[in-house]
Amino acid sequence: MTPLSELAQQQHYPQGALYVVATPIGNSADVTLRALHVLGLVDRIAAEDTRNTGQLLARYGISKPLIAVHQHNERAAGLRIVEHLQAGERVAYVSDAGTPGISDPGAKLVDAVREAGLPVVPLPGASALATALSVAGDWVATFSFIGFLPAKAKQRAAQLQQLAAHPHALVFYEAPHRIVETVDALAAAFGGERRLLIARELTKLHETLHGCTLAEAPAWLADDPNRQRGEFVVVVEGAAPQAAGEHDHDRLLAILLDELPVSSAAKIAAAITGASRNALYARALELRKD
Ligand code: SAM
Repeated sequence: MTPLSELAQQQHYPQGALYVVATPIGNSADVTLRALHVLGLVDRIAAEDTRNTGQLLARYGISKPLIAVHQHNERAAGLRIVEHLQAGERVAYVSDAGTPGISDPGAKLVDAVREAGLPVVPLPGASALATALSVAGDWVATFSFIGFLPAKAKQRAAQLQQLAAHPHALVFYEAPHRIVETVDALAAAFGGERRLLIARELTKLHETLHGCTLAEAPAWLADDPNRQRGEFVVVVEGAAPQAAGEHDHDRLLAILLDELPVSSAAKIAAAITGASRNALYARALELRKD
């Protein structure tokens, strides 16, 4: 059998390509053999934070010229990197932790390299998103990744209102200083009954996985201040399919009832949604009474 380290080397790694390399999200042993091979092979490494990446590379015994590419200079730095690639170099891009482009810089750099007609090669690895989902359980069969919510309370509440009827489980990223207010805002927008998984400090010494309802989560966080420390992925159950449907039907009926009698509103709503005309008629009568 071919040794794994040889397998990592067997693929052709063309010159003039950008290698987008995932790095660990906490435990530095979670790096892949391909990542180590490519980071050792490239001519330079573009990094979100060169100091941080320098330290990580030192752990693997790799030393390369580093270029800073962060959210404030991604376009300009991208043009410099394209020049290096056009000169035939191989360049890797790594973000601070996990998979570049997922709530991290990297996407604009990828666009710049592709627009220049040069190849982009992904090297998969750790991501807090996939790590949390892998242990969430069956209720997360379909999900939508939201990432960080807005920091301002009003904007956050508005975004959560828009998501309230969404049928998929929702995946959020959160930092320690906002975890308590985010969980409160989730409960206020979605109600207390939905399930959630709090995945804290994944792959690290104090890794914690806690499943509960949204109503129970604030007390669990308050019980021990240590539970509010570190990095978080929060996965929240989606709206129940029926509730989402009812919500949409109510809205549609309310609009139609403003202009039409109950029977016409029910007939048109049935034609639009495909739902039962009798059920919509009964619901329209209730709404008209309210
Ligand atoms: N690109 C990264 C990825 O692939 O997951 C995400 C980068 S984003 C700037 C950082 C956020 O990811 C943190 O605030 C946290 O929400 C989440 N995160 C990163 N590492 C984590 C970990 N070890 N445990 C829990 N969440 C983590």
